[in-house]
Amino acid sequence: MTENLVSAARLAAAIFESGLKSPAEWEARFPVRGLPEGAMVTRFAPSPTGFLTLGNLLTAFVDRLLANTSGGVFFLRLEDTDKKRETGDGVSGIVNDMAAFGLAIDEGVTGFGTERGAYGPYTQSHRREIYHTYAKALVEQGLAYPCFCSADDLDKLRNEQEQAGVNKGYYGQWTKCRNLSLDEQLAHLKSGEPYTLRLRSPGDASRKIFVNDLVRGKLELPEYDMDVVLLKADGIPTYHFAHAVDDHLMRVTHVIRGDEWLASLPLHAQLFYLLGFKPPKYAHIAPMMKLDAETGGKRKLSKRKDPEAAVGALVRAGYPNAALHEYLVTLLNSSFEDWRRANPDAPLAKFPFSLKKMQPSGALFDLQKLEDVSKTVISRMTAEQVYAQALAWANAFDPDLASLLSNDPAYSIAMLSIDRGNKKPRKDIARWGQLRELYSYFYDELFEPRLVSAPEILQAYLEVYDPNDDKDAWFAKIKSICEPLGYCPDVKTYKADPDTWKGHVSDVSGAIRMAVTGRENTPDLWAVMRVIGEARVRGRMEEAM
Ligand code: GLU
Repeated sequence: MTENLVSAARLAAAIFESGLKSPAEWEARFPVRGLPEGAMVTRFAPSPTGFLTLGNLLTAFVDRLLANTSGGVFFLRLEDTDKKRETGDGVSGIVNDMAAFGLAIDEGVTGFGTERGAYGPYTQSHRREIYHTYAKALVEQGLAYPCFCSADDLDKLRNEQEQAGVNKGYYGQWTKCRNLSLDEQLAHLKSGEPYTLRLRSPGDASRKIFVNDLVRGKLELPEYDMDVVLLKADGIPTYHFAHAVDDHLMRVTHVIRGDEWLASLPLHAQLFYLLGFKPPKYAHIAPMMKLDAETGGKRKLSKRKDPEAAVGALVRAGYPNAALHEYLVTLLNSSFEDWRRANPDAPLAKFPFSLKKMQPSGALFDLQKLEDVSKTVISRMTAEQVYAQALAWANAFDPDLASLLSNDPAYSIAMLSIDRGNKKPRKDIARWGQLRELYSYFYDELFEPRLVSAPEILQAYLEVYDPNDDKDAWFAKIKSICEPLGYCPDVKTYKADPDTWKGHVSDVSGAIRMAVTGRENTPDLWAVMRVIGEARVRGRMEEAM
């Protein structure tokens, strides 16, 4: 045994650079966080792919919710160990998407090459030394070894395994480099051959392990028996190894991640065990789904096929963050909608979100549902809130609209106040990008005049129009011009004997509406006319004749 350890120490010394810190030094540098009992530490750990889909963001959103509800910490870590997948600055897009989505981090990566927090570096490619410390410790304990198999060797191995009809991978009898003698290992190393560092797995696939997943409950899985690569030939760790080291040293308590990692859980359990780390709790979330327009079946939401589900696209379309957040919670916990009905005014943070209530199957992304949720959320905002958010959006994405809105803020706010603040507010806006179209007629620059086929209605109305009329007086006047023009002032009476009339009161108000707004449908016309003002009302009516 001692002899083995001496060999292992010699091997470790031959592999690793000298002067590496010890595990104890890293432990001391990143102490257990002084957080209250029950506080959850969560992280979002994307690779730098440049942008996020709503599906990626769902896990980050859960991370944020858990940290919020428990008084914990949420941070952003960049997993850039797969150089093949990297494309220049793949970071800023992610950071910007998170910020635009209103997902604040407590620590971690804040931009391309910037970060804050005491548990960094938060970019994996800057943590090489740390990984090497722990890899070295494994080698010293005989738990990891260098593997000199080339890509060709591994191809050959796969072919042989295929022919033999057994599981593919580096395990059991197939681990050519596992049993090299120290002298052989040193000779290979000396010759400068490329090598990876593999785990010497003590696992046995015929045994079971039990792991608890916070969404799926208790799972029984086979023990992991592969000698996986811990460090690649360039000394960069694989995801598995980096996950264990990072989540341990960053003192993560809860790992929320895509369920594509579920199969790796036995490996991760083993790595945490061999490294002497307490494992975090896991929640594996199914990917977001979508109904495929062509096949009608469900499929995974895709970055490529579903550009509308990219966070940037949703933000550009102008869905307010509050609506996006509310929508995600409806996807996460089906009890949310009942809670919302019972607590229409409560802040979202008051909802008792629970991982246990999550569906293990993937939530369905449904743009229509998002629109509905968003309309409701916006309908409950004050006109001032709508104004501020719409203006912020327009400043970024529609500068002309921004200048119209901000030319006369009081006018714009009066416009946005129509049918708002009452029991049944109007649900017309789903996203700020619709404002230009929905409210165009309030601005002369956007108003599109339409001719009205019954100019005599406008003529008659102009004679009685008084901008100071309250709503009852306003309506009484519209009724008053009906009969002389051959329109029935009362819809019921009209319906009883339609042939006697040219039409009824709605046709009369409809003609006025068309002249003043160019539209068949608008919010409360009396209110619209009050906001638009006498000069515009008269001017537009005259033009429409
Ligand atoms: N970098 C991994 C991914 O993007 C992170 C998985 C995890 O959260 O642990 O899938």
